[in-house]
Amino acid sequence: MTATTHRRLRTEIPGPASRALQRRRARAVAAGLSSVLPVYVTSAEGGLLTDADGNTLIDLGSGIAVTNVGHSAPAVVDRVREQAGRFTHTCFMVAPYEGYVRVCEELAELTPGEHEKRSVLFNSGAEAVENAVKIARVATGRQAVVVFDHAYHGRTNLTMALTAKSVPYKHGFGPFAPEVYRVPGSYPFRDAPGRTGEQAAAAAIDRIEKQVGADAVAAVVIEPVQGEGGFVEPAPGFLPALSRWCTRHGVVLVADEVQTGFCRTGDWFACEHENVIPDLVATAKGIAAGLPLAAVTGRAELLDAVPPGGLGGTYGGNPVACAAALGAIETMRADDLAGAARGIGGTVLPRLRALAAETGVIGDVRGRGAMLAAEFVVPGGTEPDPAAAGRVAAACHAAGVVVLTCGTYGNVLRLLPPLSLPADLLDEGLSVLEHAVRQEAAR
Ligand SMILES: *Cc1c(COP(=O)(O)O)cnc(C)c1O
Repeated sequence: MTATTHRRLRTEIPGPASRALQRRRARAVAAGLSSVLPVYVTSAEGGLLTDADGNTLIDLGSGIAVTNVGHSAPAVVDRVREQAGRFTHTCFMVAPYEGYVRVCEELAELTPGEHEKRSVLFNSGAEAVENAVKIARVATGRQAVVVFDHAYHGRTNLTMALTAKSVPYKHGFGPFAPEVYRVPGSYPFRDAPGRTGEQAAAAAIDRIEKQVGADAVAAVVIEPVQGEGGFVEPAPGFLPALSRWCTRHGVVLVADEVQTGFCRTGDWFACEHENVIPDLVATAKGIAAGLPLAAVTGRAELLDAVPPGGLGGTYGGNPVACAAALGAIETMRADDLAGAARGIGGTVLPRLRALAAETGVIGDVRGRGAMLAAEFVVPGGTEPDPAAAGRVAAACHAAGVVVLTCGTYGNVLRLLPPLSLPADLLDEGLSVLEHAVRQEAAR
């Protein structure tokens, strides 16, 4: 097979082969599962996806911040092949293996803080967040969990309760887990002008102290940069103030770095940006280039507070997934993908800002590293315009560029390119996006 190195459209998107698969899918796959764009992928490499009709698309989504090292990264593929040829499963709870231990050693080294750490591995981000809460509850003997407006933490019962947005994540799926308290966060574009991170944290803390009581709180769970909620980066000072309050009151600070982790924001973890050291870190997505793997990493005394047998799962830390993680981490180190993420941000942010100034349909441009967003508004104000974001995304898809949307109001277009994306593909993808936004402004 010869590698495709550029965008190439042979049919309309989706083409006839993808449309035929879409018809089969409708008869076999649950309707509750939706896809951003119905092209059926047959191969993927670097920052390109090739579909069943032979179209090749530029991927600015990385399967939602998962293939940070690019599709089919050689170190991942080699290690996965090698491990699959030796054994695919024993269950770490039955008979352990080195790969799991090695991944936990890497996590101890890479996550913020020099303290003694432990890790436990799972299959999904939701499972990691849910287990972080279990650990915090056992370690503190408390029950309450504090989360924020616009938060997204997953789709299991407990993590639905932690997630803010009702439709589509929660609607009709209740009753939800108790002892979850939501407080306001920091959303600079939508907060009162000039509101500092410290002021936003003080408001959240006041709410917690008055409505929950500091001594009832087991954990504060927070995404250092919010993902599904709209790529919301809190004002500087917000996270550090929250972290200090947690330390003072014996509350476990859980950083949900599922989307922000593994070089995505230009550091190994987004908490590093303001030198915040969480007590527990939940990771998944970028950890293993798409093989199902997730982790909770944190203070040894917290993880070790759970008695033997209290944590686990049949598949958690599967050996093939661990091999993929070791290949992904090796690639991130060798290729300085944190630096690459900063480079991507340096390219994308000025172009999005210029586009916002030129067209008026983008109210805010934000992001860190290669986690970047444009928030669409009705020109002249802050009223969300989800239809505009949707039309721009659809135009990009039709032109062979994968972009995603997000946000409580559905009006945020987000870019999550593979960190290894070559400059020419990034440039081409951005040109397509710029054209789509100009078309939208001219409607
Ligand atoms: C995606 C995501 C989750 C859930 O991860 P899954 O692997 O889909 O269960 C949790 N938290 C954040 C911040 C996420 O982006």
